[in-house]
Amino acid sequence: MQFVKYLLHFPQNPTCSFRKFCNKSRWWLSISVLVTALSGCGSEDAADSNPGASSDQRAAASASTEQTVEPATLILSGGKVATVDPELGNHTAIALRGATIAAVGSSEDMSAYVGPDTENIDLQGRLVIPGFIEGHGHYLSLGRARQILNLADAKTWNDIVSKVAVAVDKAQPGEWIFGRGWHQDKWDGEFADSDEIVDGVPANDGINAISRDNPVYLVHASGHAAYANAAALGAAGIDKTSEDPAGGTIVRKANGEASGLLRENAQDAVERAVAIYDQRLSPEEVEATLKEQSDLAAQEALRHGVTSFHDAGASFDVIDFYKRLEDQGALPVRLYAMVRGESNEEMAKRLPDYRMVAEGNDFLAVRSIKRQIDGALGAHGAWLLEPYVDMPNTPGLVLEPVADIERTAEIALANGYQVNTHAIGTRANRETLDIYERAWQAADTTGDKLRWRVEHAQHIHPDDVPRFGKLGVIAAMQGIHCVSDGPWIASRLGEERTKLTSYPWRTLIESGAIIGNGSDVPVEPIDPIASYTASVTRITNTGETFHPEHVMTREEALASYTINNAYAAFEDDLKGSLTPGKLADLVVLSQDILTVADEKLPDTQIDYTLVGGEIKYARATAP
Ligand SMILES: [Zn+2]
Repeated sequence: MQFVKYLLHFPQNPTCSFRKFCNKSRWWLSISVLVTALSGCGSEDAADSNPGASSDQRAAASASTEQTVEPATLILSGGKVATVDPELGNHTAIALRGATIAAVGSSEDMSAYVGPDTENIDLQGRLVIPGFIEGHGHYLSLGRARQILNLADAKTWNDIVSKVAVAVDKAQPGEWIFGRGWHQDKWDGEFADSDEIVDGVPANDGINAISRDNPVYLVHASGHAAYANAAALGAAGIDKTSEDPAGGTIVRKANGEASGLLRENAQDAVERAVAIYDQRLSPEEVEATLKEQSDLAAQEALRHGVTSFHDAGASFDVIDFYKRLEDQGALPVRLYAMVRGESNEEMAKRLPDYRMVAEGNDFLAVRSIKRQIDGALGAHGAWLLEPYVDMPNTPGLVLEPVADIERTAEIALANGYQVNTHAIGTRANRETLDIYERAWQAADTTGDKLRWRVEHAQHIHPDDVPRFGKLGVIAAMQGIHCVSDGPWIASRLGEERTKLTSYPWRTLIESGAIIGNGSDVPVEPIDPIASYTASVTRITNTGETFHPEHVMTREEALASYTINNAYAAFEDDLKGSLTPGKLADLVVLSQDILTVADEKLPDTQIDYTLVGGEIKYARATAP
């Protein structure tokens, strides 16, 4: 034991991954390991010298007679291993032992880790990277989006009407029809002559005609608006006399009747009606529905190389559900769930019981609170320092009052939680930074200790950009939003403000900010390759390049999707790089996204996704 103890405190040599590992992890060691380590950190000495034996026999012999380390369970070799650890750089092979990474090095180095049961994947030149960490998404909504009508591909309003008509045909009278993902900017603009168009969206008369007995509720791609037919509005108690709720708009036709379009908090009334509708389900049916959503979400995540997922909003009830899944071993993807939708009073009482910090091969962590200060730019809900150019009577919406978020900040400090505030507009970003700064000053603490985040951080006044780095506030951005929004941002902000404030990645990075990445799924597809490509090209959906002076480098974009997101969850000691001793969460990509030409990036396939050393996804046609 003395030897082991000594080795665990072996002075760190930054060029030697083996020693680095020794400093970080405890594992089975034989005395010969100690000798190997002391003699220069090489594993070449372990190679068998019996030239007549087959490589398998040699490996087996090595395991039985000259075994220097506990064998690996899986070795991936013959490719490129981008560790995203600046001390380690790139290698050609990686050895996994159980749930953790045993070593990185050359393919020859790995022979020391071959035992009788060690499996091998021949990378054939492919790239291994740390598993993608989705930095901001909505886990159960991703699953639910697979259970309801998918309107994301609708190219015309009529596509949506037809999908609803098919669903109504199959539904019982009174059954609700749910859909998600429509976006008016994707439609070709042709509507029926009879349609009254309000704010670019037809009023609901046409849809009412096909769905009189079925409430229809279709959520916008952004989640910041929704469309309801007359039956759904009726169930929600919305009529001509209803006033707009705080932070929301009931969009109206020329005659003053609700058009069906509901912005931001105006959706709440329908959602309350849906909650009542859901009471028809037994507790077992609710659990089964949620379980299906979780399973569908996990499938989507793993298929896209996502091994950890920051869930931007879970109530205590949902966290209880996640806990049950974790206990059953039924969470295939690691979740970092942000507490959401609970009052300050409730959080002050219950947060201590819910704090869960990731340790080892854990699948659930809870240590942050999600707040939302404003809405989205597309729906004129982002809170701006100056009014919208195309809606000059408004600077946007405040969804959750500053004083309320300020109180959350105090509660978070008292309970060791991060605050992760959704802020999209310039005013929203400034107010959020102000709230954080005031709270930290009052508590005599600093951002680097707390790692509080701004979710989205899309439009930032140049005066506020350096505050992220200076204060230590993480910009939890989504590369894909930049290229989806790019074509129409200037219509909301004007050219000058767009150039000055929108998605200023380079100035953020250069002023020391840490940028996370993600997709905000189901707002955008969970696909990290798409968001990575957006981050390094800023080529929009219409083919132009959106202010290319702010592109990230390939390395920065990869870090933003791995180690930076791990840091943003206080999990960088466990994951985010392929450092020996960390969790064996990794992805094999069909090609090298650090070097292929920009236009080839979207062809990248996820060949394998491993979580905790287990292959959780393998592409059927992968070599
Ligand atoms: Zn979100």
